Amino acid sequence: MVNLIKSFLNFIYPPSCSICGELVESHGNICSKCWMKFNWISNPKCYKCGYPFPADLDLGPKPMCPHCASGECGLDFIRSSCVYDDFSKNIMLPFKHANQLKYQTLMSRSMINCLRDLNLDVDVVIPVPLAYRRLFKRGYNQATLLARPIAKHFNAVLDVDSITRKYKSDMGHKTSKQRQENVRGVFKIKNIDNLRGKKILLVDDVMTSGATFYELNRVLRRAKVSAVYAVSFCRVVHAI
Ligand SMILES: [Zn+2]
Ligand SMILES: [Zn+2]
Repeated sequence: MVNLIKSFLNFIYPPSCSICGELVESHGNICSKCWMKFNWISNPKCYKCGYPFPADLDLGPKPMCPHCASGECGLDFIRSSCVYDDFSKNIMLPFKHANQLKYQTLMSRSMINCLRDLNLDVDVVIPVPLAYRRLFKRGYNQATLLARPIAKHFNAVLDVDSITRKYKSDMGHKTSKQRQENVRGVFKIKNIDNLRGKKILLVDDVMTSGATFYELNRVLRRAKVSAVYAVSFCRVVHAI
């Protein structure tokens, strides 16, 4: 019966690529042409933070970038689906600011996929919080929309209440050191008991310098969580 309804709906609303509109096999998918335009992050990459290395390097099973090798990444793992470039930017920014929610399935599915080989055990999924002022202005937190299907996949609790964020002016076009300073102290944990001892997965649409994840990791460690992972749809890749 469910299949019959599905076929009927597919007949009325044929599944189409959420980017270019080309017909595809099932709803939420994108066509192969659009798929190829992303710079998906695969191996070799930093085992800890997912920083992509050039494809032709053979670095062994668990390579690390200099940042992680020096112990500066306090998170257990960070992963991102793709590199932030002109193509992924044109998916990510409309999703963030212009209500283009049709990209939600593509983004969250690719984020679940990029975590797959880590076999993570996750208790709580936390979308990177927006300050209330931004939330009211935008009407939704794009990270929460991505976090919901991810929490479902991990059979984990989606927690949008335990951490609050103070409003600070935009971080656009700042150096990574300025971003780190700008985000320092903006997050506050309200319900430490909800998080203590838990394995936390942070979710955001883009990782720029990593400052937001690092700062959340800092406050979560103080709350004695047992692991902190993070995933973003895209990440800015600076030369290292
Ligand atoms: Zn397409
Ligand atoms: Zn790394």
